[in-house]
Amino acid sequence: MLNMATELLSQSDLLTALDPRVASIVSRLSDRPELASVMEQLLNLDGPALARAKRSITKAKVAAPASPEIDVDFLRLLRDLPRDVESARLRAREFMDREVEPIANDYWERAEFPYHLIPEFASLDLLASIFPTAPDGTVHHDSVAEGVLTMELARVDCSFATFLGVHGGLAFGSILLCGSKEQQDEWLPRMRKWEVIGAFGLTEPDVGSGVAGGITTTCRRDGDAWIIDGEKRWIGNSTFGDFVVVWARDVADQQIKGFIVETSAPGYSVRKMEGKIAQRTLQNGHITLDHVRVLEKNRLQKANGFKDVARVLGMTRVGVAWIAVGCAAGAYERALAYTQRRTQFGRPLGSFQLIQSMLARMVGKLASMQALALQVSRLQNAGQCEEHHSALAKQFCAAQCREVVALARESMGGNGILLDHSVARFFADAEAIYSYEGSNEINTLIVGRALTGHGAFV
Ligand SMILES: Cc1cc2nc3c(=O)[nH]c(=O)nc-3n(C[C@H](O)[C@H](O)[C@H](O)COP(=O)(O)OP(=O)(O)OC[C@H]3O[C@@H](n4cnc5c(N)ncnc54)[C@H](O)[C@@H]3O)c2cc1C
Repeated sequence: MLNMATELLSQSDLLTALDPRVASIVSRLSDRPELASVMEQLLNLDGPALARAKRSITKAKVAAPASPEIDVDFLRLLRDLPRDVESARLRAREFMDREVEPIANDYWERAEFPYHLIPEFASLDLLASIFPTAPDGTVHHDSVAEGVLTMELARVDCSFATFLGVHGGLAFGSILLCGSKEQQDEWLPRMRKWEVIGAFGLTEPDVGSGVAGGITTTCRRDGDAWIIDGEKRWIGNSTFGDFVVVWARDVADQQIKGFIVETSAPGYSVRKMEGKIAQRTLQNGHITLDHVRVLEKNRLQKANGFKDVARVLGMTRVGVAWIAVGCAAGAYERALAYTQRRTQFGRPLGSFQLIQSMLARMVGKLASMQALALQVSRLQNAGQCEEHHSALAKQFCAAQCREVVALARESMGGNGILLDHSVARFFADAEAIYSYEGSNEINTLIVGRALTGHGAFV
């Protein structure tokens, strides 16, 4: 039998020389009567028929295991959400998959925002879950709800999640934390319904990380109003929104004050920033404020210095950590699906050990990001989250996100840099997340100061 097999295999040109290990296998198989008969039939095949049989055996072997369902919640951290939050999460997911996913790459490439989706997005009523109203009428911030919903948006489109984060986090949060009761009553209900859209103007052309001591935009009291002069840069939603919360230095007492500046105000102008390579769908503006007059009633009554800006950022940074979680989740699930689909050497990419290593590293990082962000959100809901907790969440998740999207991109080879497969978009968008709302270094320094007692910013 062994001689016959050797003869046929060499004739068929499939093996030029018989490897001793193959010889041993053939010999052992031929000792079993039922296999001996199968082998005899195989030996009667001619070369091309034998090659076809070999291909079909290989195919059958590879197609056999069904791909497991892709689950971005690997550690089942998000399974026990309150019913209303879970329902909002499912609404958000369904909307993003149905409406945003099919157009996300196109809008990203054209650097345009899909404004036509805002009415339906508003009707999802996500802000009612993020900022629930208590029976006594007070508005609360539910950080876990914000996190999970933000993750769902970013999982499909990080720009959409940032659009929510700027209006429903930074702008809403500024008025919630720093506004008087009257200001909250005037603005928050309309913001919750997206009847007015807000932006948050802190960064300036020459002052980014150093805003704490470096804001140059000024405000000057003038009777029952204030005059604001300066420039703001990178301001999300400012090209189309209804108002911007502008942070400016009072020339009288040098303290930072916050103002609700309507974008229709004389002296306010904005131009869209062009040429971004990340979060292109998000609209960022460069604002000029030229003697803009704002009534005292639109000065945030509880904002008395930069510490109040820091309170707002402390609240919203956790949300940015969740954008990073969503970005990583979106890249991971697309990469996993791709590596199940794409075959090389006659096998799915996902069957190669080195690709599995990338996938395991991705899901491990994703799970650790989710666990950290969730715990910090829980601390926030319990009123125990300090500035360094949210800084750690943002710093850790944004850094891990960058590594996940890089692995996702790598696992897809050339297609990883093509927009068609979406992972390239997540790969690029992660760069914005890494830098905004406190760069990696600034959030690291906030954590470092809490650990050591030494501020190392300058
Ligand atoms: C897509 C996008 C959206 C944004 N949206 C808004 C918005 O809506 N509103 C808003 O106000 N701003 C917004 N920003 C601005 C954002 O918050 C700033 O980009 C960020 O704070 C960093 O500032 P910078 O870009 O000026 O960098 P810089 O401050 O110039 O920093 C450059 C580098 O130096 C490092 N660095 C700076 N200081 C130190 C230090 N002391 N020690 C060590 N390293 C240091 C930084 O970490 C960074 O790596 C947005 C930015 C982006 C990219």
